[in-house]
Amino acid sequence: MAKKAAFFNPFYRVCSRVSGFKLSMRKLTALLAACAFVFLAGCSGGTAASHTTFVMDTFFTQTYYGDPGLAGEGDKIVSDIENKMSRTREGSDIYNLNESGIYEVSEETLYVLKTALDIAAETRGAFNPALAPLIELWGIGEEGTDAPPRQSEIEALLPLTDYRDADVWEGGTVVLPPGAGLDLGGIAKGYALDRVAENLRAKGVISALIDLGGSIAVIGKKPDGTAYRIGVRDPMGSASEYIATVELADAFTSTSGIYERYFIADDGVRYHHILDSATGRPAERGLFSCMIVSDQGILSDAYSTALFVMGAEAGLHYAEKNGIDALFVTEDKKIMMTDGFAEKYSFELTADDYEVI
Ligand code: AMP
Ligand code: MG
Repeated sequence: MAKKAAFFNPFYRVCSRVSGFKLSMRKLTALLAACAFVFLAGCSGGTAASHTTFVMDTFFTQTYYGDPGLAGEGDKIVSDIENKMSRTREGSDIYNLNESGIYEVSEETLYVLKTALDIAAETRGAFNPALAPLIELWGIGEEGTDAPPRQSEIEALLPLTDYRDADVWEGGTVVLPPGAGLDLGGIAKGYALDRVAENLRAKGVISALIDLGGSIAVIGKKPDGTAYRIGVRDPMGSASEYIATVELADAFTSTSGIYERYFIADDGVRYHHILDSATGRPAERGLFSCMIVSDQGILSDAYSTALFVMGAEAGLHYAEKNGIDALFVTEDKKIMMTDGFAEKYSFELTADDYEVI
């Protein structure tokens, strides 16, 4: 049985309770934005500031030991990135590019896009930032989506989703074929965490845990000298239930899973939000989730999406070959990890119905 999270983050319980109300989540944004700092007295290393907002369509919680004002800087960093890279936000670089097919994007968007295209090439499209037409068609995570699109509609859009057709000119102008579109949803949160962690470190913070949707940045260790413990989420449970824990210090981790955004159709089939470029449908490789640990958030995020699409077998092979630390949770309740993952991070299985193989 899965356990309930009772560690690292005082706000985690609040957030998970709120996120249980799936459809009304947006309406709770304002409420959560009003969440003020919580000061945790009694920790040997001083006072922890914890601050939660709703940004990039998810909860953003910063828990750290340092100046409480720094959380506002973190909020601004993430919302600026959202304003540049969101597919749906009017006026963003990606919105403008998708609308007009040719657009000079900001330096920051260019960096994330180039990284995305490199990883797309490396993973042969398992990570694909050009899936916007299909992501729009599926509408997963949008209110009111309750049925999959017709196969003919999927097939009509598939030819428009080849990442190799995105042309990046020197100077930052990007050109797309008619009907094509980009979506950086699989990589932008990890990048945002890189920037937030960089800012906190520059301001002298040596202990923090920053959580943005499926990605987490860990700075240092807890003030008592122990590593931060991250829960491997129970794929079938609520956001606060976990099946294992991993200890991390100075690392970024991202998990791509079937539970992040999905809908259940009338026939009971569950459709999640990570699409396989080969089929244009949610990736079906027998996985519940894929977790990556890296020294960069942008990489942990992109690879968690890519290796989820590959599945455990091909994903493990790819990760071992490329020195990526990866952990997979399969639908038949098996947990597999790369040698590097097992060697570097202290892992503890806490659910007796799962097995490490
Ligand atoms: P993540 O939760 O990081 O795995 O990212 C999933 C999000 O990335 C989705 O909600 C889409 O916006 C986008 N996405 C879906 N499938 C892919 C894919 N195969 N490659 C890259 N991005 C994807
Ligand atoms: Mg990702």
